[in-house]
Amino acid sequence: MGKRTINDLTDAEVRGKRALVRVDFNVPMDDRGAVTDDTRMRAALPTLDALLARGARTIVLLSHLGRPKGGPDPRYSLAPVARHFATITTRLVRFVARTVGPEAVQATTTAAPGTMLLMENTRFLTGEEKNDDALARQMAELGDLYVNDAFGSAHRAHASTEGVAHHLHPAVAGLLMDTELRFLGDALADPRRPFVAILGGAKISGKIDVIDALLPKVDALLVGGAMACTFFRGMGLETGTSLVERDRVEMATQLLSRAKDKLVLPNDAVVAPSLDAGAQAHAVSRDAIPAAEAMFDVGPDTCEAFAQRIIGARTVVWNGPMGVFEKPPFDRGTRAIAEAMARATAAGATTIVGGGDSAAAVDAMHLASRMTHVSTGGGASLEFLEGKVLPGVAALDDRSN
Ligand code: ADP
Ligand code: MG
Repeated sequence: MGKRTINDLTDAEVRGKRALVRVDFNVPMDDRGAVTDDTRMRAALPTLDALLARGARTIVLLSHLGRPKGGPDPRYSLAPVARHFATITTRLVRFVARTVGPEAVQATTTAAPGTMLLMENTRFLTGEEKNDDALARQMAELGDLYVNDAFGSAHRAHASTEGVAHHLHPAVAGLLMDTELRFLGDALADPRRPFVAILGGAKISGKIDVIDALLPKVDALLVGGAMACTFFRGMGLETGTSLVERDRVEMATQLLSRAKDKLVLPNDAVVAPSLDAGAQAHAVSRDAIPAAEAMFDVGPDTCEAFAQRIIGARTVVWNGPMGVFEKPPFDRGTRAIAEAMARATAAGATTIVGGGDSAAAVDAMHLASRMTHVSTGGGASLEFLEGKVLPGVAALDDRSN
């Protein structure tokens, strides 16, 4: 069943109201407190503009910033974020130094119509991460309706992402949240076939649940990254000094026998004596990894084979880089996947990228606009792929039809 979104709100539910919106303004900043990447702030604007266009009187924004420990810490104040926000919108923006409480509530009721108020960092309050019910009730007093547009925080049951939705209705999804749920949800619930998933990254341990959840759904699961080495070890291959999780080898072997030919491993590897020895990188067959070298990327034959599978697919979901893409020349496998996905998109396939590092890789390669959807939620998109219910989503109102 779907969740209500801001598009489902009746005029009576929005007009003249204070909309409490949980956004993700957890943006990177330099040591002088300047915002270095405002993508997340810009991404929230369509939802905020839509609410104001529909007659919402005041927008009250809640967000966390960083990981302050045990109370207020000026290094994590949202004040500079509010100043930056004011430069990317024509609306009136005000920072409120209190997150909740009488002064905060008063700010929401007395602000000039059309104002956007950014309340101080939710994580300055110890009850936030504990999902304290009293705090959730205090947050609920800041608005007349609740909108969650922070998909990246939806896998956490915090007061501002989950608890508050129990005390303030309507509680609906914002446009960003809705887009994430639709693309990720539809791809998994009713994929056009062939459905190919690609998994990579450093560790198999964080992705076991994803493999388990995806295997029954996909037509093929392509595995790259250091993860592949744990499978190689399970097959009895030499993996040299590659990153192998020894305590997961047994499980990798079991997965392989269970998955049969759905699980596709690299045929070859790009190896080198060390990460800093990129000049000595060379491709070898997967059964010829030298004992003193490590696999840092998938090899050219694998790039070709994976690209063929991707180009032939109608739904492609990708999580986890194929190699140490941060350090050329070990970025080639990751680039090959991203380029094949871009071609698949152009040919009409639905292509989805999830995962913080994978999304960063696609961005760095300037290919993000050539994917159907690049998820903004690293951990949240992974949990979604695992088939888990995201608490921040579950707490929102169900669509009645
Ligand atoms: P995501 O954030 O997209 O979910 P992960 O966090 O699981 O991806 O993995 C990304 C990391 O995996 C990157 O930092 C990358 O350098 C690393 N990685 C990929 N392949 C290898 C490899 N062969 N050896 C060591 N690290 C690898
Ligand atoms: Mg990561």
